[in-house]
Amino acid sequence: MSAQRVIIIHHSEIALKKGNRSFFESRLCANIKRSLADFDDIAVQVDYGRFLLFIPDSCDVERLIDRLRHVIGIASIRNAVKGDPDPDILKEQVFEFVKGKEFGSFRVDTHRVDKHYPYTSVQVNEIVGARIRSATGAAVDLTNADLVIKIDIFNKCVYFAVATFAGERGLPVGSTGKVVSLLSSGIDSPVSSFLMMKRGCQITYVHFHSFPFTEKSSYYNALELVKILSVYQNSCKIYFVPLADMQKEIILTAPAKLRVVMYRRMMFRLADSIAQLEGARAIVTGDSLGQVASQTLENIAAISEAVRLPILRPLIGLEKEDIIEIARRIGTFAVSTEPYEDCCSYLVPLRPETKAKLSEVHAAEEKMQKWPELLAEALANAKVEKIRFPPSGTWDAI
Ligand code: ATP
Ligand code: MG
Repeated sequence: MSAQRVIIIHHSEIALKKGNRSFFESRLCANIKRSLADFDDIAVQVDYGRFLLFIPDSCDVERLIDRLRHVIGIASIRNAVKGDPDPDILKEQVFEFVKGKEFGSFRVDTHRVDKHYPYTSVQVNEIVGARIRSATGAAVDLTNADLVIKIDIFNKCVYFAVATFAGERGLPVGSTGKVVSLLSSGIDSPVSSFLMMKRGCQITYVHFHSFPFTEKSSYYNALELVKILSVYQNSCKIYFVPLADMQKEIILTAPAKLRVVMYRRMMFRLADSIAQLEGARAIVTGDSLGQVASQTLENIAAISEAVRLPILRPLIGLEKEDIIEIARRIGTFAVSTEPYEDCCSYLVPLRPETKAKLSEVHAAEEKMQKWPELLAEALANAKVEKIRFPPSGTWDAI
């Protein structure tokens, strides 16, 4: 019989949250199970603040590890094998495991959580290390070894591993609450959604479109982006909200220079209503200070004033290059740079206001008496899509 293969997962910040630790752990555990829904026969066990995944021989470990690298809240993933608690047997098992590998130097790094285990970490390092050194001739290097053999001892069990992978870190999705994220099909908003997921938020997406005034490309791009992001949050909803009638009314009744600010105030009001429906406590946008006309301090103030929910802008201080780097890493950049017509660019004046005055905005809204009715209509005509990853199985709310 071959050795029992085990994936050892360490989580990242959860350990810091003393009182809430079990809540965060069970959230992460549920998220791990969800993201592995298409893998068969995996047993999950929580042990000393680590997660152990017992996997069958038939498991595609590379695919499994790749999947786990997208689970937010995981700090590291160790591809391990269960060993014998007797160090004299263990050293032979480790040797068998590493003997085909090429390495000039190595280090054994034992971590003993189980203090009842009769050997110290240093003793295990020495026993296993001596066997590897004499059999292979490789040198011990404590700082920069070619091969690091990790040995974990907990709950009377010993596990050893030669490969550790970095996880995405952050707080488990869903552990800090629900938010509504405004998703255009540009570069910034998928990144802002991702960064809030990393702070534990469960996202409901909202995309506004001006169909039939603009073509439908932004709709399809937004849907594609949500599919890409669903590797981080396995079940999600996106609301597609028609803004065309509202925009027509703004164009007819308000000063041209205020159009963008007014479109945005309406977008935030609609997002606020969706947040009430979804039990979300904040609205997220991809605004970055000074990036475009609607993102000056004055306009941000004039837009934010339309709603009472907190507005989170995780990109506010980032430069475009930094945002692009994250977009490339999470895989949204290619879709975000496909051409699309955004509703906010619909009939935008040549010189939009960059320092909107609230008194002028209020006066324009007062003149436009139909807006509460148009908001209700837009909401009633919104279409909701549900996305699930992995796609097999039924959609389930977190
Ligand atoms: P992105 O900011 O996503 O790259 P963009 O730069 O075209 O797209 P901006 O004009 O910078 O968009 O808009 C700022 C923010 O407003 C976006 O990051 C997004 O949160 C929100 N937003 C803009 N257009 C839409 C839309 N059509 N639907 C939903 N949210 C939108
Ligand atoms: Mg932008």
